[in-house]
Amino acid sequence: MVTDTEWKAIIENNPSYDDQFRYAVKTIKIFCRPSCPSRPPKRENITVYYDFTEPEKDGFRPCKRCQPNGKPVDDTLWVEEIDTILQEQYAENLTLKELAYLAHGSESHLRHVFKKVTQKTPSQRLLDIRLTAAKKALLPSDKTIS
Ligand SMILES: [Zn+2]
Repeated sequence: MVTDTEWKAIIENNPSYDDQFRYAVKTIKIFCRPSCPSRPPKRENITVYYDFTEPEKDGFRPCKRCQPNGKPVDDTLWVEEIDTILQEQYAENLTLKELAYLAHGSESHLRHVFKKVTQKTPSQRLLDIRLTAAKKALLPSDKTIS
């Protein structure tokens, strides 16, 4: 549940609420400071936390952009998160813009960090995942033998 005041703080990216609460977004499993400049989520997908350690206990990841834990998010960890998103959504028509939204980072920063860590761009990686999935689908299964 989000109060009107909290919702207003979130959509206005109001930094004066940063010491009062964090909000977690159910759909993308990330939590943020009220001041986070990322695209605002749908109100019904938000959970508000007053204990800043709770979101992580509930399985939410800190946002790369606003660093709701007060410490930078490790590049390698972030790339793992991006890779998880790619593997979950490879069948969708995923653009860099959408990926940046889901991973909470800017498009240019995401591309740069991903390439630095994996030596591949997110779109090359997406193609790899799609090819692997296509090969798997072509492998003979028990069903076809019988
Ligand atoms: Zn954020």
